[in-house]
Amino acid sequence: MTALFWFRRDLRLADNPALLEAVRLGEKQVAPVFIIDPKLLASVGPARSSYLRDTLSALDESLEGALILRVGDPYEVLRALCHELGATDNVATADYAPSGRARDERVTRELAVHGRHLRFVDSPYVVAPGTVLTKAGTPSKVFTPFRRYWEAEPLLAPFPRPRDVRWVSAESDSLDAVTHYAARQRPEYFGDLPNDPPVYDPRVGEAGALAVLEDFLSHVAAYDEQRNVPALEGTSRLSPHLRFGTIHPRTVLASTNGSSRGSEVFRSEIAWREFYADVLWHNPESTTKVLQANMADLPVDTDDRAVARFHDWARGETGYPLVDAGMRQLLAEGWMHNRVRMLTASFLVKHLHLDWRWGAKWFMWRLIDGDVASNQHGWQWTAGTGTDASPFYRVFNPTLQAERFDPDGRYIHRWIPELRDTSAPDCLQPGGGGGLFAATGYPAPIVDAAVERNEALDRLAKLRER
Ligand SMILES: Cc1cc2nc3c(=O)[nH]c(=O)nc-3n(C[C@H](O)[C@H](O)[C@H](O)COP(=O)(O)OP(=O)(O)OC[C@H]3O[C@@H](n4cnc5c(N)ncnc54)[C@H](O)[C@@H]3O)c2cc1C
Repeated sequence: MTALFWFRRDLRLADNPALLEAVRLGEKQVAPVFIIDPKLLASVGPARSSYLRDTLSALDESLEGALILRVGDPYEVLRALCHELGATDNVATADYAPSGRARDERVTRELAVHGRHLRFVDSPYVVAPGTVLTKAGTPSKVFTPFRRYWEAEPLLAPFPRPRDVRWVSAESDSLDAVTHYAARQRPEYFGDLPNDPPVYDPRVGEAGALAVLEDFLSHVAAYDEQRNVPALEGTSRLSPHLRFGTIHPRTVLASTNGSSRGSEVFRSEIAWREFYADVLWHNPESTTKVLQANMADLPVDTDDRAVARFHDWARGETGYPLVDAGMRQLLAEGWMHNRVRMLTASFLVKHLHLDWRWGAKWFMWRLIDGDVASNQHGWQWTAGTGTDASPFYRVFNPTLQAERFDPDGRYIHRWIPELRDTSAPDCLQPGGGGGLFAATGYPAPIVDAAVERNEALDRLAKLRER
């Protein structure tokens, strides 16, 4: 008896209860499959598709080359494989994002017609989205009470790696199909923005995730002090691994749970990830629709000048050094420090007056950790449109942010080579504080931040008057 295990956002063997269930149902005979769905991949940018390909390659290695890759519609692929391998049971970790939920409902229904069972076990979260409720039985709209209820849920110990499994393989498509089918639905307004994959940490896959975690454990105690300084490696860098499930947050928390202030703050960041997944579960429309209806009509610019400004922002050529350093890190590494994500997002919305959805789309296109819940709600938080969002009238000042979080310009120097010979505080200012940048080739500021801040607040005031 063979059971089929459908890998999706859980590309690992350890701490994977759904895989353990497949091992049980298949009596230790499991066919591991990953489905390359061209419809899904079309909107995945070059960063995540390249990261996914490398992660699948690592997964295949840990399965002794047995991973079955098939291009096609999930229902068609699973049905064909069940037929080929004589399998009845299919198991997967549940997906909680709106498109995944819709797909899973359809595939389950269609397989059932043919007498095949598709079961879902566990989730990519410590607590499954939709589970954490207030005493009144309602979801929390605000993070702090959510976290309190979330903390009260039991934290399960990591599950063991399955042993003595016979991996059953079958004919497989090429791994290159992942990048082949990706990035076909590139938005027109991206124009000629770079489309090459970034260069990321080569520690991919499950072993890579454990190595990254191991590194982080040496400085988790200082996380609370270092996490806001983009020049430091003060954060865990686990986000792409959590995105692709090469590690489960259970395992991460089991290793980082300590009494230090750093561990405590880190746990809270993991809770933000869980909060946003929960918000998305209850509000599937929030991938594109604002959660605060009264902000829906805030005017945004969409003309040619707006598109040109969007391109300057995406290329890291706004003339605001910390903003540009972040956008260039995103282009180069497919990752950006959280502090700078907040600043660059705020700059797009409040200084350039562009639609947050444009920015969110570019982030999703370029991030290796691009995750619909964390990204869309990170953007809604910044744009003042989300549940528990930072109010719109709180505008990050790009120069003050640089002075506070990159005072010696180390992060700016790393990502903006034109400014390497300009020391702080001059390199923190747009224009270099007195036209110093003119000779460096680094662009002059495309907007005046003080003027545009007032413009943003004006737009908000007019919206409120209506
Ligand atoms: C505009 C914007 C867009 C974002 N887009 C994404 C995204 O697509 N994918 C993504 O994983 N994170 C996103 N974030 C959240 C955050 O920036 C990243 O999770 C973090 O920078 C990843 O680096 P790290 O793993 O070193 O984080 P650490 O500081 O080490 O945090 C540990 C983990 O906690 C979670 N986490 C931390 N901060 C947040 C947060 N604010 N919201 C949700 N989860 C959090 C992540 O899973 C992260 O890996 C976004 C934030 C903003 C402001």
